[in-house]
Amino acid sequence: MTVIALGVPTVRRPADDPGVHGPAPATGPLVDTYGRVATDLRVSLTDRCNLRCNYCMPAEGLDWLPREDLLQPDELARLLRIAVTRLGITSVRFTGGEPLLARHLEDVVAAAAVLRPRPEISLTTNGLGLERRAAALARAGLDRVNVSLDTVDRDHFAAITRRDRLPDVLTGLAAAKAAGFEPVKVNAVLDPVTGRHDVVELLRFCLEHGYQLRVIEQMPLDAGHQWRRGASLSGEDVLAALRPHFRLRPDPAPRGSAPAELWLVDTGPGGPSGKVGIIASVSHPFCGDCDRTRLTADGQIRSCLFATEETDLRGLLRTGADDDAIEATWRAAMWGKPAGHGINDPDFIQPARPMSAIGG
Ligand code: SF4
Repeated sequence: MTVIALGVPTVRRPADDPGVHGPAPATGPLVDTYGRVATDLRVSLTDRCNLRCNYCMPAEGLDWLPREDLLQPDELARLLRIAVTRLGITSVRFTGGEPLLARHLEDVVAAAAVLRPRPEISLTTNGLGLERRAAALARAGLDRVNVSLDTVDRDHFAAITRRDRLPDVLTGLAAAKAAGFEPVKVNAVLDPVTGRHDVVELLRFCLEHGYQLRVIEQMPLDAGHQWRRGASLSGEDVLAALRPHFRLRPDPAPRGSAPAELWLVDTGPGGPSGKVGIIASVSHPFCGDCDRTRLTADGQIRSCLFATEETDLRGLLRTGADDDAIEATWRAAMWGKPAGHGINDPDFIQPARPMSAIGG
């Protein structure tokens, strides 16, 4: 029997090595004390969402951020300019909450698209409303779209998201493809009970429609702090569920810093083929190759999804700070980036902000 293992990149400096380091470098790439370079900026545009996925939000929703705390389009445009022209950011992904709930999304995409060197611009969305906006987003300069979809079973979808909106998501996916986004990716977090079945149907659906499926291990970022180790499906569980139905081979292309371990999928003679990605963030962390920096909808820099500290840029923006001061503050925030999420450490502390308020 062939044993197929998921890759485990390593941190360049051990997490318990205090190292020798002073203040953050004032110029050059956006580095941290472990030698990692952040080139990928995740921008959350809102903490609101029109679904209520049970692994993310309670049924009644959350206390949303006050509107006056959210960054305005001109503030976002300024931070994007600083990130790209001063800090070496080469890709920008807009997230939420649900970023399609931000009316200014097209404007912010356009503000990113005029920057030079032009960053790659992408969007992670639940797909609701994408049908109406996909073409305008493409015109504004959006390059790629990831749609979150955990199942193509309508009842399972309604149970997971607490909303019966599967047909609208499928329409949104089709609109993304028609608008020319390539590839259109589907991000799935599997339900612990129905996920083994859901993932088989979901992969079939994605292969038939030309979408690229990426299955993401559930992480402890739920608002209710209900996540329990072993209660969710691991990357290995997902592969075990898929193997009886598909021929899977590791993608020989180099992975680089990409979080997804890619597999080539073959459904047999005459059937569709494609790729599936497994993002084993919990069981096989890729923090040693992390290239991300995050900006929350209320203007806080988070060096890591699981950071317990944030650095306020909104206050600087609104008190007249110049670009040099904002750049230096952003650099200092990233310099202190932790080695990794620490989920597997006994003293792990879940961040106070849930995923919906951080941005995925
Ligand atoms: S947990 Fe933090 S360090 Fe690890 S990949 Fe995610 S953002 Fe990067």
